[in-house]
Amino acid sequence: MSFLSIRGLHKSYGPTSIFSDIQCEIAQGEFVTLLGPSGCGKSTLLRCIAGLTPVNGGQILLNGEDLVPQPPQKRGIGMVFQSYALFPNMSVQQNVAFGLRMQKVGGAEAQKRVDEALAMVELSEFAKRYPHQLSGGQCQRVALARSLVTRPRLLLLDEPLSALDARIRKHLREQIRQIQRELGLTTIFVTHDQEEALVMSDRIVLMNQGRIVQSGDAETLYTAPVDAFAAGFIGNYNLLDATAASLLLQRPVASRIAIRPEAIQLHAEGAIAAQIRSHSLLGNVIRYRVEARGVELLVDVLNRSAEDLHPNGRQLALSIDPASICEVA
Ligand code: ADP
Repeated sequence: MSFLSIRGLHKSYGPTSIFSDIQCEIAQGEFVTLLGPSGCGKSTLLRCIAGLTPVNGGQILLNGEDLVPQPPQKRGIGMVFQSYALFPNMSVQQNVAFGLRMQKVGGAEAQKRVDEALAMVELSEFAKRYPHQLSGGQCQRVALARSLVTRPRLLLLDEPLSALDARIRKHLREQIRQIQRELGLTTIFVTHDQEEALVMSDRIVLMNQGRIVQSGDAETLYTAPVDAFAAGFIGNYNLLDATAASLLLQRPVASRIAIRPEAIQLHAEGAIAAQIRSHSLLGNVIRYRVEARGVELLVDVLNRSAEDLHPNGRQLALSIDPASICEVA
């Protein structure tokens, strides 16, 4: 049985439906990412699970028990927001202890748990500092410790890394995942960043306009998108309509197809003539825009040596790995 089971969840604001029939099963200890464009309903779903936003219908079963009738403080859920939401007039230690005060845990037990939580996020030596004396990354680690200290049954993370710079983000990603694994903590992480979702998750739940489009591990989402939205959102797929696909593959194709740019190879000569239109250097990868049989395609080539660099206008040939051609709805 699933640890968390969301059944027929429905949320509207007045006449506007945000989502109308969310079904989702999450196993104990799983790290699940809700991924999707801004406004698709990820945060609303998270807030409904936490009890911060009321739902209009459906069930949220945690270990078999419906959370919907319960107030947020009774749900045993920890939540971390993008904005940290720390109390500016409290020290790190007092911020972390706050959740325990709500649970009426005090004295030596509270001190022990606060120390443990701060050690987990590697902030023990910052216990006496105030939020204004910390960096953004450190503030977010305090927010994380404040959730962990209550020993939640479920951890909800709402874009916790979005306000941080790339280097800190990467470090904190690893730290969150390590702590989550150590504690076996069932976690739902919200992001609109596909790379973050791909590197962090046991499973990705891809959402669009209040609907779950696809759910699966990173490899499945990356290599087998179920529709054009999934192909457009994850990776930099070439999306071709049936006419362009038929032209390129020189056989009748009935639906749209998606081809990953790295599944196309460039050669000096071959069956499919291709001309380089433009290129951009993305560090270790060169992304070419090529034209073949009247169709424009993106082709990614590893930047290994000068031989991989082709000037605009050069005539080459390309080949496509047939296994990488996905038909999408
Ligand atoms: P995401 O987290 O995927 O960016 P949200 O869950 O924040 O999306 O928002 C989903 C939709 O719900 C958006 O169209 C947003 O404008 C709308 N929405 C969110 N909160 C409210 C609210 N309090 N009142 C009315 N509409 C809201």
